[in-house]
Amino acid sequence: MSIKAENIKYVYSEGTPFRTVALDNLNLEIREGDFLGIIGHTGSGKSTLIQLFNGLESPTEGQIIVDGTIVGEDKKKLSKIRQLVGLVFQYPEYQLFEETVAKDVAFGPVNLNISKEEIDIRVKEALELVGFNYDEIKDVSPFDLSGGQKRRVAIAGVLAMKPHYLILDEPTAGLDPAGRNEIFSQIQTLHKKSNVTVVLVSHSMEDIAKLVNRVIVLYKGKIHMEGTPKQIYSQAEELEKIGLGIPQVAQIVNELRKCGFNIKPDILTVEEAKDEILKEVRRR
Ligand code: ADP
Ligand code: MG
Repeated sequence: MSIKAENIKYVYSEGTPFRTVALDNLNLEIREGDFLGIIGHTGSGKSTLIQLFNGLESPTEGQIIVDGTIVGEDKKKLSKIRQLVGLVFQYPEYQLFEETVAKDVAFGPVNLNISKEEIDIRVKEALELVGFNYDEIKDVSPFDLSGGQKRRVAIAGVLAMKPHYLILDEPTAGLDPAGRNEIFSQIQTLHKKSNVTVVLVSHSMEDIAKLVNRVIVLYKGKIHMEGTPKQIYSQAEELEKIGLGIPQVAQIVNELRKCGFNIKPDILTVEEAKDEILKEVRRR
């Protein structure tokens, strides 16, 4: 089970002076159980790419294969693919519109031709998966929630479709630090508790480093780097060249290394940095 992108090219406004190549000869595979980060500067092609995964858009060249099915080849299979590949768009709270949270989360499943009982079970499960107490939240108006809570409701709406793949486009954009932590810890718990494959899209390396186990770096519509967060972070200069910052703690470690400190280059957390720096100081 996987999502495969094969030789993908995507061109906007072909045949006009506004022609833009958003994706170029891109190949990747998202495997079942992955917790993948797709990172890149604004305009690198992230949002375009994920809209191909569920057939919302079709590639100009190449193909997307979801669990063995070529997306778009048979139009009748598209609704199944959209159920398997759940997309949470940027600022998903703008799509909340029902008068209660429960109704909003039920919106997708209602179109799935399943029983009322099954819908209720799914709504409850989905809301609990994103950390809500069902009885407390179900009758609340989405408009009375905080930014982070609204976003969790929007994520629950996609989870209620029981997707195999959950793809989140910049899920913390515009939230304050508390809202960001709330979302990230819920996504992390979700990945551990359910067996959904998670793809997190972000322009911020710092956000994603601690969560995902594999990172794909997009640059100008191409895969520029790929590896574990540690492998990617140890290439600080390369990342800076393409406009991606590295976490502050990794910057400090890099500066210390330049000054002759003998510490590992692939440090992601403050704890690790502390241990390594102390070891080096004691050696000296
Ligand atoms: P990201 O999500 O990484 O910011 P996008 O996929 O939104 O990147 O954009 C990739 C490229 O495609 C950019 O050059 C962007 O300007 C262009 N682009 C995105 N959407 C459109 C559109 N609807 N029409 C024309 N060009 C677009
Ligand atoms: Mg985007």
